Amino acid sequence: MRILLVEDDALLGDALQVGLRQTDHAVDWVRDGVGAETALAAEDYAAVVLDLGLPRMDGLDVLRHLRAKKKTLPVLILTARDTVDDRIRGLDAGADDYLVKPFDLGELNARLRALLRRAGGQPSPVLAAGDVTLDPATRRVECKGREVELSAKEYALLHALMQQPGRALSRAQLEQHLYAWGDEIGSNTVEVYIHHLRRKLGADVIRTLRGIGYVVAKSGSPS
Ligand code: CA
Repeated sequence: MRILLVEDDALLGDALQVGLRQTDHAVDWVRDGVGAETALAAEDYAAVVLDLGLPRMDGLDVLRHLRAKKKTLPVLILTARDTVDDRIRGLDAGADDYLVKPFDLGELNARLRALLRRAGGQPSPVLAAGDVTLDPATRRVECKGREVELSAKEYALLHALMQQPGRALSRAQLEQHLYAWGDEIGSNTVEVYIHHLRRKLGADVIRTLRGIGYVVAKSGSPS
């Protein structure tokens, strides 16, 4: 999934970017509040990891502006402000969750999984569509009970589609999920990954809706 990381601390930001990419997220990293607003206006993110103490514009203001624009994407705040009042202010400004620095990268990833799951309306931690299951915690994909090996981009594309089975995503939306700034995008890469996924999972798992995009069915044939 495409994640916006807003963190002005260079060491922490770098570690977070590496850690989030290891779980197959496409990560854009900005270092101040104005940069965060610009990125949020330009791109379609699945979630935001937002530091509060930022140059140029405070993280709380970024959050308030985002919610004032009726944007509902999950926001996890990172804060060194570990008083109860600061946490309450963050949640009241529209954050969905928070972590107090210093925190564990594993916990950050687990909290992000929970936020993405809720945002997708998924009741179970393991995503299911037809014969295919995808476990974001282990990144294990199974088809009819058999494990299927996927490349990082194939996995990210399938994850985006399975986040909300039945909802079609256009090629442009899938590219948003797959690529961060600076990544090179080939002209037909989404089609190539779809082709690979169909070969590995079966031709009918991902359907093409002509002129609209791609969709995974909510439930497959009960074979
Ligand atoms: Ca900071």
